[in-house]
Amino acid sequence: ARKLLMIPGPIEFEPEVLQAMGIPTTSHVAPDFIEIFGKSLELMREVWMSPKGQPFIVAGTGTLAMDMAAANLIERGDNVLVISSGYFGKRFKDILDRYGANTTLLEAPLGEIAPLEAIENELKNKQYKALTITHVDTSTGIIVDPKPIAQLAKKYNALSILDGVCSVAGEELNQDEWELDVVLTASQKAIGVPPGLALLMVSEKAMQVWKNRKTPVPNYYADWTNWLPIMKAYEERRPSYFGTPAVNLIVALETSLKIICKEGIEKRVKRHQSLAKAFRAAIASLNLTILPKTTEIAANTLTAVYYPEGVDGAALSSKMVDSNVIIAGGLLPEIKATYFRIGHMGSVSPNDLLAVLGALERALSELGHPLEIGKSLQTFQIELLK
Ligand code: PMP
Repeated sequence: ARKLLMIPGPIEFEPEVLQAMGIPTTSHVAPDFIEIFGKSLELMREVWMSPKGQPFIVAGTGTLAMDMAAANLIERGDNVLVISSGYFGKRFKDILDRYGANTTLLEAPLGEIAPLEAIENELKNKQYKALTITHVDTSTGIIVDPKPIAQLAKKYNALSILDGVCSVAGEELNQDEWELDVVLTASQKAIGVPPGLALLMVSEKAMQVWKNRKTPVPNYYADWTNWLPIMKAYEERRPSYFGTPAVNLIVALETSLKIICKEGIEKRVKRHQSLAKAFRAAIASLNLTILPKTTEIAANTLTAVYYPEGVDGAALSSKMVDSNVIIAGGLLPEIKATYFRIGHMGSVSPNDLLAVLGALERALSELGHPLEIGKSLQTFQIELLK
């Protein structure tokens, strides 16, 4: 039977997107492909809400997008404030450290976000070149509101870099209005394209900071010196070459961005919000606890849930597989074995989440967790109809 992939990326992809990937590969300088690449760059600006931003599409994963932001904007000795609410915040610190940044890790307690006062205190402390925010940390299912943090960054003359890998095209975002300098993501999450593309949108201010570097970018592949002329050429519909683009993935990207823009980004974000809210209510009705301490900081693209008392994680996930629903385990090393994660982003529908809840009820019930069969499905339906 067909399995439902409900992990927080890669996700279930639209059939049109997968079909688009299957085209006979063209030359990267074929006129049709130049048009598709150029159009994808333009559509990115709509999704990011950044008419003035400089988009980059590069073959690689979300980690490359983080690496590119660090390599191009940071020089040895620069102070960078890393605001972390889980595993991916710490990854940003690791990456920045490689480039010789002087990083300060502002780590929120488990299940919480760093308070704005703590962020401002740090920014008062010394002159930071940049700060990083993980919009949705996929390891904890926690969302951080980037708006006030970007404003603080501006006030203290630091660049704001947003890891939007688990948020772009799923959570509310307005890069230009919120004055975020870099918003980066990867293809396999709410963007809805198989893994393999790193996507970045860079503000005019950040491009200027990059241009004014005193030292060369110490990474050949990531250097915007190599990629900026390519992005400009494709947008102006001219052939160019630096590294062979992932032709089929970019064809799929254009298809998915068109689907996203056709739905409308606002409507899409609302769909994520209402599905996530109903899903959280359903999870609570099963007497399960989510990892974020309050629902205000619970992401709308995934939900992280603690295993109930006495339920073995491996047994639960294997029972879910028997029901053809694939979920993800924990990711935060300290508490990996105590929780699981369910992705609900991209083309996710009520049907998908009802299937997850049905399978989850059967699995938990068989594993001895006391629950009322049908309760979470009913709760989900009622909440969705509100
Ligand atoms: N940041 C966040 C918030 C993520 O969720 C992920 C992937 N789960 C990454 C960065 C890294 O992306 P990738 O696995 O594509 O390298």
